[in-house]
Amino acid sequence: MYYQPKHDLLAGRIIMVTGAGDGIGREAALTYARHGATLVLLGRTESKLAAVAGLIAAEGGRPARVIPFDLSAAPAGDYRLLGQRLAAEQPRLDGLLNNAGLLGEIVPMAQQSPDSWREVMAVNVNATFMLTQAMLPLLLQASRPSLVFSSSSVGRQGRANWGVYAVSKFATEGMMQVLADEYPAATLRVNCINPGGTRTAMRASAFPREDAARLKTPAEIMSIYLYLMGDDSRRKTGISFDAQPDRKPGPA
Ligand code: NDP
Repeated sequence: MYYQPKHDLLAGRIIMVTGAGDGIGREAALTYARHGATLVLLGRTESKLAAVAGLIAAEGGRPARVIPFDLSAAPAGDYRLLGQRLAAEQPRLDGLLNNAGLLGEIVPMAQQSPDSWREVMAVNVNATFMLTQAMLPLLLQASRPSLVFSSSSVGRQGRANWGVYAVSKFATEGMMQVLADEYPAATLRVNCINPGGTRTAMRASAFPREDAARLKTPAEIMSIYLYLMGDDSRRKTGISFDAQPDRKPGPA
């Protein structure tokens, strides 16, 4: 997608990114900060989040908030507490990028381990739902809030061996569609991004023999991430976008 965002596209906006310590989430957080946003960085590994916050500060961005939070294990009450804590400290949330995700095992359904199934569904679906629900009151305080989910091509068309990851991404697309139908775009817009094959640790574990140099880097797919967080997308809701529309799914 070609998109030329204004330099101050996100000035004055408060944006939460999950899985902000690595891969696409890290790059999205840095990119949003460069366009003026204040970041709330949520993820599993505190040192990685602190490094991202440090980089944002070094680049002259607004101070970022670091929230270490394990999405695979937190009980529902922790999400409510997090929502209450943030509400006490900030007036609103202008954007939430639900980016954190787990791949799980790439094996035929017949061999899928129930424990791995449960863990991937816990992070990719249940945690995404609970965090979104906990953040809704703060999002609805913003004037044009944007909620973005991270999808995948296997969340639109099932593929052999992609088991729980594919099922979790179908669920993510469904969550996006239900929420988009519950709110008018002007109140809350809700969309998905399918990044397409992107050079990250998750991609490398899915396709260990692939030549990673042939994949786009997270930095090269940021246009759609910016577009959906800024006001240029204010009328778009209920849509599943492709960060790389011309790319065919599968190995590079
Ligand atoms: P990475 O594995 O590189 O990064 C995932 C991030 O999620 C990490 O920061 C990780 O934390 C965090 N995370 C994982 N589990 C938890 C947890 N239990 N609690 C909190 N945070 C957690 O993935 P990508 O950047 O490649 O993927 C980002 C999103 O894009 C995912 O939703 C993925 O499904 C989707 N996607 C990616 C594609 C690709 O080619 N890369 C293609 C299609 C979709 P930590 O750093 O601590 O491990």
